[in-house]
Amino acid sequence: MTTIPGQLSPTPRLLLGPGPSDAHPRVLSAMSTPLLGHLDPQFLEIMNDTQTMLREVYKTKNQLTFPVSATGMAGMETCFVNLIEPGDAVTVCSIGYFGTRMIDVAGRTGCKLTVKEKPWGQVFSLDELRDILKTTRPKVLGLVHAETSTGALQDISEVGKLCHEFDALLLTDCVTSLGCTPVELDKWEVDAAFSCSQKGLSCPPGMSPVSLSPRAVDALKARKTKVQSWYLDLSSIMSYWGGDRAYHHTAPITMVYALREGLRLVLEEGLEARHARHVRNHLALKAGLEAIGLEYIAAEAYRLPQLNAVKIPAGVDDVAGRKRLLTEFGIEIGGGLGEFKGKAWRIGIMGYNSRAICVLSVLAALEHVLRGLGVKVTPGSGVAAAELAYSA
Ligand SMILES: *Cc1c(COP(=O)(O)O)cnc(C)c1O
Repeated sequence: MTTIPGQLSPTPRLLLGPGPSDAHPRVLSAMSTPLLGHLDPQFLEIMNDTQTMLREVYKTKNQLTFPVSATGMAGMETCFVNLIEPGDAVTVCSIGYFGTRMIDVAGRTGCKLTVKEKPWGQVFSLDELRDILKTTRPKVLGLVHAETSTGALQDISEVGKLCHEFDALLLTDCVTSLGCTPVELDKWEVDAAFSCSQKGLSCPPGMSPVSLSPRAVDALKARKTKVQSWYLDLSSIMSYWGGDRAYHHTAPITMVYALREGLRLVLEEGLEARHARHVRNHLALKAGLEAIGLEYIAAEAYRLPQLNAVKIPAGVDDVAGRKRLLTEFGIEIGGGLGEFKGKAWRIGIMGYNSRAICVLSVLAALEHVLRGLGVKVTPGSGVAAAELAYSA
């Protein structure tokens, strides 16, 4: 190497895409505290705190609740590889890109997979799910709670009970819901849930909180074959997180500090207050986006407050628009995934970033950029509509 790269100094951004979202400053400062050994009594205490708070945030008494040492997708994989043995019947009901990921992950377990799909932007009704359970009789039903690719919320509040009538387990992707919209594992009888650290919990990416119900644990104990993944095998991970603290892998200490602080922030604010804050900021953002002519993809009845997926106006280039937001305003928003590539923008106001300053900044920047790209937008109209929504 002739020259050593310069000292790291990234330009600050406002991360208003589908994740990562900005980490809370308190999370970042927790991350700069001294490292501990992963079996240090102090660290074991920190692990206990983290698990106790995770149960509160997930609204569950599930003993098997802990963060997998990797991102959200590892949580998805953990749930599937532990609950499914080759030949088991699995049904995945997909409403978007992350549903198709679930199909891929489930398919690799050697299960007998049935796939049901809705056009992107729509959700399944309880009646449809009942029919699907009746005809497919799966061991596990997989659903994405908050579909980040479309901005749709799949109501799962009564699906767990329904699954149990059919002797199925409910497995849900709560990656974009936890910390933003209500998630109540016990009340909703969810058997396996996973999330991430970098969206509603305002930490950097790197941890995936997972929780399994006693029913799911029974399924785990009844396995006849070994879990195909060594790293994600819950029976051995749990002797570190749950039992005698036996070494399994070196916990990412600093990420556990981060998650602990992120969870403290959630509980200090209170879950209800936090959910209400997400709705308040969503309504202001929605008023502003509609005032500048942007149309939502998901119907209002099941729209996510934390992930606003809108159609890119005709004639506007996706990449050019997002590039200007990034370079001129330091704001990152998301493009479309899969069939929405080039057609959708996704604005995340999650966790710490669900704040008026984020809403007003992105609206002002969007007005400017859209005008620059030839769209007719009255200057100030988006910001004014959001202001009005805040004062309503
Ligand atoms: C972001 C996301 C994931 C993937 O999480 P990673 O942390 O990127 O691995 C999975 N499901 C949904 C719904 C997501 O939004």
